[in-house]
Amino acid sequence: MLKQDVYILIADNNQPNIETIKSTLTHHNDIKYKFDIIRTGQDILEKADHIKYDLLLMNRALSDLNGIKVLDEITKRKLDLPVIMIVEDGEEELGVKAMDKGAYDYLTEDEIKTVSLSRAIRRALQRKKLEDDIKESIKKLEKLAIKDGLTGLYNHNHFKEILKSEYKKAKRNIQSLSCIMLDLDHFKSVNDTYGHQFGDHVLIKSSEIMKKLVRDTDFVARYGGEEFFIVLPNTNLEGSFILAERIRIAFEKNIFRKGEISAVVTVSLGISSTLDSNVTGDNDLISNADKALYRAKWRGRNNVCTFEETEFDEAVGIKEEEKKIKDFYIRLESINENIKETCIESAHNILLEMNSWWNNVKEHSVRVSNFAEKLTRELLMSDDEINVVKRAALLHDIGMIGVNSKILKKKDKLTDVEYSLIKRHANIGVKIIERTKLFHKELPIILHHHERFDGNGYPHKLKGDNIPYGARIMAIVEAYDVMRTDTLYRKASSSKEALAELKECAGKQFDPHMVDVFTKVVEKSK
Ligand code: GH3
Ligand code: MG
Ligand code: MG
Repeated sequence: MLKQDVYILIADNNQPNIETIKSTLTHHNDIKYKFDIIRTGQDILEKADHIKYDLLLMNRALSDLNGIKVLDEITKRKLDLPVIMIVEDGEEELGVKAMDKGAYDYLTEDEIKTVSLSRAIRRALQRKKLEDDIKESIKKLEKLAIKDGLTGLYNHNHFKEILKSEYKKAKRNIQSLSCIMLDLDHFKSVNDTYGHQFGDHVLIKSSEIMKKLVRDTDFVARYGGEEFFIVLPNTNLEGSFILAERIRIAFEKNIFRKGEISAVVTVSLGISSTLDSNVTGDNDLISNADKALYRAKWRGRNNVCTFEETEFDEAVGIKEEEKKIKDFYIRLESINENIKETCIESAHNILLEMNSWWNNVKEHSVRVSNFAEKLTRELLMSDDEINVVKRAALLHDIGMIGVNSKILKKKDKLTDVEYSLIKRHANIGVKIIERTKLFHKELPIILHHHERFDGNGYPHKLKGDNIPYGARIMAIVEAYDVMRTDTLYRKASSSKEALAELKECAGKQFDPHMVDVFTKVVEKSK
């Protein structure tokens, strides 16, 4: 049964044509028509974007765009609008071309004067109804299915079922359950640059990468467009972090290829676990992973973040420092967002107001930044990259504000607990700085400037090339500066001694190539 009221958009420059259409339709049909009349292609696209027409009757020649171009735009914008194109007598070839481009039918200007017009409209409406019915049925079938059509992974609905039942199982057996939410980075631009087909290819291959790396007992699901969930029964936070890093690296190293096209697509991953403090049901695992993923994106993408990291760690008892961080943030936020250099300068000044010992940190940061600049130039980095490293150097110890000053000033050997509190400065620094929304390129450098080349550093135990490039630079220049500076309880090493120490630790603590280059830089500047 067809609709009784049909809303038609007529796009035509030619007034007599419009009159003909109107009078033909009122004379030849039982359906009640309502018309909207416009003259340009641009108007079609604007109107059809927010008004639900049943049909577009479009003359092939409009004052701005031609009909074929409009059809292309309708397809591109997924406007879901049946089109009948009107061509001049003898232009049937153009009509056929229009049908190839997605028009339902075409009519000549002679035909619109006859019953052919209402017949063509009736057929178009019938076809549209059929297509809508099919779409509806597919939707219903999809609901019943458990696999995603494109990737063959479990679909969104089935993922929810799995999570629910695994959550119950974990509770019953007192086992931990973790989730990884994965999102492809900048996927919109992959589609925009290489086309949707290549995008689909990337999605299919991505699911293969993930499936290859998980255990048989794990579940991989397509959560949405380019978002995936991995459910890891009987897995704690540490285990899920190792897997997430493995996946991140696999993507970073992989090249997606199809025909002539090849591209690298990185991923960001968020981890949640039943051990997270706020989890009372399976849905918390989704929202926690989502929150962690959001944070991983903020850190510059190609990154893994756990929900735990997004929370302030109550256990370390640094309430006062927390307050300082907050005060600091509020003051920092008031500074003009666009002026990064001013922002950094102000940050140091504020911290100096709050703590007199900050002067040492500031001076250290400036020296580190100067050394970093020399090394980055020798490593032939671009000016933009150099500026990022310089800024990160100026900010790299800002998290120290969240560490109790008694610990920082302590002369005796630190206890394990005190050392673990100091180690938090990288995370705290990131927490403070990311709120300014000014420095997301600098964040990974700040977070990872204490990673070691052999994988024994903190906070993420990243290894070798997996440590961000700028963070490897920072590790070397910072260590050099610390060795070269007098403290209350230790005399500064000579430049020769400091370089020898760096060389001794090359390959263990530091990137060996960078140590070689830095040695040259220092020797050259003597
Ligand atoms: P971000 O790094 O912030 O995640 O950036 P993004 O571009 O990946 O994020 P956004 O969520 O804006 O874009 C997701 C894109 O994924 C947009 C959409 O066109 C694309 N997409 C979703 N589903 C599919 C699909 O089935 N096939 C293809 N080819 N693309 C899809
Ligand atoms: Mg997304
Ligand atoms: Mg994305």
